[in-house]
Amino acid sequence: MKAFNKSPGGLFSALLAVIIIFLGATFYEHGIITEDFYLKLLSATQNGVTESSDLEVHFIDVGQAESILIKAPGKNVLIDAGNIGYEKKIENYLRSKGVYVIDIFITTHPHSDHIGSAAEIVKRFPVGEVIIPEIPEEFLPTTSLYEDFLRALARKNCSVSYAEAGTVFELGKGAVLKILGPDGYSGDNLNNYSVISKLTFGETSFLFTGDAEEEAELSLVSSGEDISCTVFNAGHHGSSTSNSSLLLKAANPKYAAISCGYNNDYGHPHREIISAFKDFGIKYYRTDYDGDIVFRSDGKTVSVTTKK
Ligand SMILES: [Zn+2]
Repeated sequence: MKAFNKSPGGLFSALLAVIIIFLGATFYEHGIITEDFYLKLLSATQNGVTESSDLEVHFIDVGQAESILIKAPGKNVLIDAGNIGYEKKIENYLRSKGVYVIDIFITTHPHSDHIGSAAEIVKRFPVGEVIIPEIPEEFLPTTSLYEDFLRALARKNCSVSYAEAGTVFELGKGAVLKILGPDGYSGDNLNNYSVISKLTFGETSFLFTGDAEEEAELSLVSSGEDISCTVFNAGHHGSSTSNSSLLLKAANPKYAAISCGYNNDYGHPHREIISAFKDFGIKYYRTDYDGDIVFRSDGKTVSVTTKK
């Protein structure tokens, strides 16, 4: 993040902008001002407050769940929104990073630890487009969480599309997010419908596989796509049903980030996956020990900072 303009006048107007944005966000959240007005307010005040030509990927500590913020030079992407009850944490986290608009919101798959706070996030932020996996009717969840999410999307008239392998999103300054999956899975394991994507920025890249399990991983590897990456978002919270050796070999990451809750009931991340990461020479971070994990890329190298 760059510093404010150094002149006293510049500092004052930057401070004023921060106050206006804060009030605008509060008014927007409570329905006092319209989305249109809020967006105009943001574009009028945000310019000059912060600027960055780097790309950041934040693995937000949301316990035994997942929520990832991509803060690219031109767009903000949110992948998943943790469990129910984490909306305030995610909202505050995004705002503290200067994120007031979610340009692209990907929900990898409709399990509660990925869409738990999604409805609330849709209510609290202007959302450009929403990407969800296409799942056969008979396997779609009937949970109230999922229905609340769909209702929130409908109420805000959000643009919703099914993830389609091959779709590319330009995120500014050459950053590109490409959808790689799901591709062809038709069984009853919702995890295997997870939206898979790869983010590339210069010579650095990030692979996100949601909770995709071995079957989906193998199909990804055999798709012939280049899935090599600098940072791998460990599959399914570090479960041994994901993170197969074949995938790790093809992805060949330098780092891995595991979203998991301290002392969780599933034993995530599984011991054999931690050993595999060590065998492959992958330096890993985990939200239960490290808190929020932030990777920053300048297009050439990636640096890491953690909360704890
Ligand atoms: Zn999960």
